[in-house]
Amino acid sequence: MLDSHFFSFSDGILCCESVALDELARQFGTPLFVTSRQSLVSQYRSFEEAFASLPHFTCYSVKANFNLAVIRTLAEEGCGCDVNSGGELYRALTAGVPANKIIMAGVGKSEAEIKYGLTSGVMMIKAESISELKAINSVAEHLGKVAQVGVRINPNVTAETHPYITTGDSKEKFGIDEAGLGEVFELFKTLPNLELHGLDMHIGSQIFDPEYYVAATQKLLEVLESARHLGFDIKWLDLGGGFPVTYDPQKPAPPITKFAEKLIPMLQDKGVTVIFEPGRFIAANASVIVTKILYRKKNQIGKEFFIVDAGMTELIRPALYQSHHEVLSVKQHDRSVVADVVGPICESSDFFARHRTIDDAPEGELLAVLSSGAYGAVMSSNYNGRLRPAEVMVDGDEVTLTRRRETYEQLVQNEL
Ligand SMILES: *Cc1c(COP(=O)(O)O)cnc(C)c1O
Repeated sequence: MLDSHFFSFSDGILCCESVALDELARQFGTPLFVTSRQSLVSQYRSFEEAFASLPHFTCYSVKANFNLAVIRTLAEEGCGCDVNSGGELYRALTAGVPANKIIMAGVGKSEAEIKYGLTSGVMMIKAESISELKAINSVAEHLGKVAQVGVRINPNVTAETHPYITTGDSKEKFGIDEAGLGEVFELFKTLPNLELHGLDMHIGSQIFDPEYYVAATQKLLEVLESARHLGFDIKWLDLGGGFPVTYDPQKPAPPITKFAEKLIPMLQDKGVTVIFEPGRFIAANASVIVTKILYRKKNQIGKEFFIVDAGMTELIRPALYQSHHEVLSVKQHDRSVVADVVGPICESSDFFARHRTIDDAPEGELLAVLSSGAYGAVMSSNYNGRLRPAEVMVDGDEVTLTRRRETYEQLVQNEL
């Protein structure tokens, strides 16, 4: 099993902490997201421990899993938040995160979102283009405020990961590249309602090799030098997120300490607070989807399918990024089969696993799709008229329903 001991078998039944998943399915129905509170806390603490010797502040990237209970769990640990939109800001504030612990990012923030961020009093608002800096300045001027801003640099480092989750490459839409920075620094002289306090990057997600961070950080440090030279009081150096987790036991992610070992010496005496924005690292392995085997079928070429009641509407990662997710039978069986685990949606890309050895569980029993905590529920949709599933959080032997299952009425409530 994965690096998580928060999901393990007890008496032949897969459990989340002390609670059997079949029990949860009976109580709350399927499909069901089940999140281990202790796993979230443990991941956050291991991150903090790895970077303990560096002056830093960790802002959980809310977009990975924006369930209020998840945000609240991390806020209670002292963690800040990185939000990507007005909606995520609303969620973070609703979960009780103080505005001065929230960083607002996003490649295209609307005027309304900028206004919401500034009136809430966020710690820093990040800009990704010259036009956006002007927009932030103008909103701040209207509000009679001075905005604390960060500038996202595109370091032109192509991290080796899935092409859809690399973001620090010049070909991608993110940030401002080195060539544009002179103009940016010049611009600040004409924008009296902005104070440049942060330099920021985020080079992608699920990055296994610390050297990509080293290369990009090197570039960020050069920018820090120039900015200081020009008289800017840079307080925050924001390295973004992207730290990897293990999805496939055959391809284990390096431990977070490997990244800390490389980065701490580079950043230690720079007179800045380093900001980290881990999302996946904290949330990915904290949740599973419990799903019922509706039907099994075999076709004429001998291919076998498990058709389950969850699908790409709950976890789109296999369709979007060809990502691997372990799928386990909640009840252990002695015999196994090779099969595809597929959902009920009308798309060929609606699958969780292909050609996978899996326990020979009969129809009606349950499977668990592991590592579904990050970019799972947050990307869920109503496609095919599907109802977003219920979500529960487990802490030891305590279970809390953190999101009710949607209803048919909710599907049409906004239509006139
Ligand atoms: C998505 C994102 C993150 C989090 O990425 P993970 O890979 O989940 O750690 C952090 N910062 C920014 C700016 C992002 O867009």
